[in-house]
Amino acid sequence: MRTTPLAAFRHHGLWLLVWCVLSLAGAALVGRSELARQQSTFETDARITHRLLSQRVVQHDAILATLALLQPATDASAPERRLPALYSQILAVERRDGGAPWAVPALDTAETLSRALRRPALAGLDLAAGRFWLVLAAEPASFALQMDLKAVVPWAEWPMAADTSPVRVTLEHASQTFVVQPGRMRAGGWQYDFRKPLASDSQPFDVVATRQIGWGELPWLTMAVQAVILAGGLAGLRTVLRQREQRRRAEELLRLGQVARLNAMGELAAGMAHEINQPLTALLASTQACERLLDDEPPDLPLARVAAEQAARQARRAADVVGRLRRTVEQPDLRAPLRPVDLRQSVRAALHLLAPELQARQIRTDMEAAGAPVTVLADAVALEQIVHNLLVNALQALEQVPQGQRALVLSVGESGGTGALTVRDSGPGVAAEALPRLFEPFFTTRPGGLGLGLNLCETLAGRMGGQLIAANHPSRGAVFTLTLPLATPLGDGAANALNTH
Ligand code: ADP
Repeated sequence: MRTTPLAAFRHHGLWLLVWCVLSLAGAALVGRSELARQQSTFETDARITHRLLSQRVVQHDAILATLALLQPATDASAPERRLPALYSQILAVERRDGGAPWAVPALDTAETLSRALRRPALAGLDLAAGRFWLVLAAEPASFALQMDLKAVVPWAEWPMAADTSPVRVTLEHASQTFVVQPGRMRAGGWQYDFRKPLASDSQPFDVVATRQIGWGELPWLTMAVQAVILAGGLAGLRTVLRQREQRRRAEELLRLGQVARLNAMGELAAGMAHEINQPLTALLASTQACERLLDDEPPDLPLARVAAEQAARQARRAADVVGRLRRTVEQPDLRAPLRPVDLRQSVRAALHLLAPELQARQIRTDMEAAGAPVTVLADAVALEQIVHNLLVNALQALEQVPQGQRALVLSVGESGGTGALTVRDSGPGVAAEALPRLFEPFFTTRPGGLGLGLNLCETLAGRMGGQLIAANHPSRGAVFTLTLPLATPLGDGAANALNTH
């Protein structure tokens, strides 16, 4: 574990990555639903367009059929002459009676075709200009209508705004194209197509509609708003998780009892000093009185005895107070059976608990641990307490050196049947004269220190069959080494025996 800016970045980076992935996924969903909506609108519009144009061209066949039915009509009353005035899409009407030739030569072939097919036939197709002839062969006269496609489109019922709609609509036949509405064509993006012939045998033009959607048409604003909302949500979640983590740490600290116990110890020490002071003062007064009574001529022996008894009572009171203090200081009862504990896990748990403190003091922390568990026989709570105390001491020592020089190295390993943890700091180390006294109760060099931490650690380690040793590192700082017996691993024979049952 290393509490460096890189680790901090990794921590933030993970949230950033989650945000990016979720934002992208959200954007993809929004984009897809927008494209689906556009496609559905396009297909509906294209179908309406096809139906409207089909309805109109079918009319042309009907007009021609009506003209053929109305025969014979005299030239003078020829009703067909009035058609262009009635239908804007009819530009001209031609009629051929008997053996007379067509005024427009191209109509001849179409008439022959119409006679063969028994339906109107196309002639003089010029789709670029939107013009064509429709010829119906009949007796005694044949008729031909010249149509203008521009006037065929029923704009009043048209489902799109012809000038601004992005959809391109054309009529196509025999490699010729009539542009109904130009639409907007752009490279890249998505394209939807529709192609269907008009529902008229005589005018089999394909209705072709195309919709192209560029990247710019995607709902970027919605995507951006969604990403911002997501960022807010994740920030909120992160805060909640952090608060929960802090609460958990605080509870854990309380469980370890470190904070609570040290506070209580402070109060206890003050109370004890007060309580011991009283019997000592009384003891002094009684012995002085006793001395005076013995010095009297003649000595007042009965009264001196009373004073001596009083002195003894006060001395017992003081001893009681000290006894009470010892009982309070005496640490967890280790009658609970020791269990196999992974030393690395205990160290990680203690480090995790103190991570904010280490970070706040900018202490570079390295943990060197074996890949496999180092399983020692211990009481997990007591072990965590020892590690915690050692770390807190190192933290306090490191506060005495400048920020750039604060380093903490923890290593966990095993050798010769014992598991070992060393805690090494780059602090000022322990003064030579203090080194032999470190584990004495109430030995402290810290203002406000109680001098009970290391004593407790040593006691706990001893009760678990282990040892705690303090030393100075040759280069700088203090090194504390905790050794504990390894939990005896199952031999191969035992493991096999277990497996076979
Ligand atoms: P306290 O922390 O209340 O003083 P401890 O028993 O934990 O009680 O520590 C006793 C003394 O040992 C400290 O006052 C300090 O002088 C010394 N000590 C402990 N750990 C370290 C360390 N990592 N570096 C230098 N001195 C230390």
